[in-house]
Amino acid sequence: MKSIDTIYIDGAFVTPHGTELFDLHNPATGQVIGTVRLGDELDTRAAIAAAKRAFPAFSRTSKEERIAVLNRLADAVEARSADLIEATIEEYGAPVSRSAWTSAYAVAVFRLAAQTLENYDFTRQIGTARVTMEPLGVVGLITPWNANAGFICGKLAMVIASGSTCVIKPSEMSAIQTSIVLEALHAAGVPKGVFNVVNGRGDVVGAELSASPDVAKISFTGSTVTGRAILRAAAETMKRVTLELGGKSPMVILDDADFAEAIPFALMAGFANSGQACIAGTRILVPASRLAEFETAIEAAVAGIKSGDPRDPATAIGPMVSQRQWDRVQSYIRKGAEEGATLLAGGEGLPEGEAGGWFVRPTVFTKVRNDMTIARDEIFGPVLTIIPYADDEQAIEIANDTVYGLHAYVAGKDDIRARAVADRLVAGRVIVNGAPMEPMAPFGGFKQSGIGRENGVFGLEAYLEPKAVMG
Ligand code: NAD
Repeated sequence: MKSIDTIYIDGAFVTPHGTELFDLHNPATGQVIGTVRLGDELDTRAAIAAAKRAFPAFSRTSKEERIAVLNRLADAVEARSADLIEATIEEYGAPVSRSAWTSAYAVAVFRLAAQTLENYDFTRQIGTARVTMEPLGVVGLITPWNANAGFICGKLAMVIASGSTCVIKPSEMSAIQTSIVLEALHAAGVPKGVFNVVNGRGDVVGAELSASPDVAKISFTGSTVTGRAILRAAAETMKRVTLELGGKSPMVILDDADFAEAIPFALMAGFANSGQACIAGTRILVPASRLAEFETAIEAAVAGIKSGDPRDPATAIGPMVSQRQWDRVQSYIRKGAEEGATLLAGGEGLPEGEAGGWFVRPTVFTKVRNDMTIARDEIFGPVLTIIPYADDEQAIEIANDTVYGLHAYVAGKDDIRARAVADRLVAGRVIVNGAPMEPMAPFGGFKQSGIGRENGVFGLEAYLEPKAVMG
């Protein structure tokens, strides 16, 4: 049993004023593996005050000093990789390969931010004006449980690069992972108060950050519902916001696609991070003329996907993060059947051979209409829908017929045609034919997938405000 009973304020691990204890679970067994003592409004205010005190000095540090801090942070998190991988498997249930990837990502984001900073010019001349890009002040970073270390480190990296200071409120469900990240960040020797971490509930610590007049910006990743609440609260004090919210991303399979390549691409896009990914490609658009062929091939491919013990290297899909998330995914599978979609693979209940834990059967529905609930709502689990279409025009229309616009995928033999389809999709990012992610490219969504962009120069500028001086 792990007991996490401190938060981090002004460069020190301190006992929170809040006294509520929150249980932490191993999703692969459903067992309680620890507790975290949650901070409250007073703790949040103390953390904000520390960040506010640290801002004047930190905002005046040079680019070189901040690059050095970022590199120290990368080294410090890298030194704890093994512990972080273990905690990500234990507390989140991510399969081994995914845990390794997210831990490496948490290191890479600091190095990428250092690189962005290296090449960034904070001053430019516009006519007679000298325009400088100024850091914002205290930033509130609110992160979810589906890539805890990556989100904390990614957002913190840009805060540091910009010269701002911050209070981080990680997901209360990820406290063991957070404690390891935090020990690493502490070891990097960052000036005290530059970052502060308060474990706590969203409607307590998160709400206090969103309302505080001393917080200049909120950067949030999580659900659209919570994003809306933050945006409303932030309006009161005119806070800047970056909101990375949900998605219901289309995977457009063109009629010239080679299914031997397109299906692994679709399954990777749909089932990555056990389906608990905002960028998941959950609506697979398939040409009606090749539907039967696609169904046969994807059914066979899904039969070879293991959902189960995250420590088994053969496992591709680990458990859902919580009982609540498991129930939610089950209810959507039920709803899909009720609304008349055809179940092609998976279904309700545990995968064969699993007795405990929050495991889900990799599930694919076919002959889905885009107005069905399972094609509208973000499910956040390994549940995919196949939606047939008549021609490219209709595929594009269906792909864009969603309140979201975070991500999209296109598969087709003719690259030029596939890219032409990609150009017409309303999404912050489109991946054509399994191309690798570009980490420096902007990340974020259109429509209800959020506001603003993260990563690279766009991500850095989201923490800066232009100031023009004339004369
Ligand atoms: P959530 O949006 O409720 O939680 C994300 C973070 O926001 C957590 O740190 C939480 O404590 C905090 N929060 C909650 N209420 C808040 C409030 N009123 N003010 C400020 N902060 C608040 O997400 P969840 O409940 O963990 O998951 C629910 C659904 O959200 C999932 O099923 C999924 O659809 C979606 N989700 C999306 C992402 C993503 O990457 N886009 C990540 C996690 C969850």
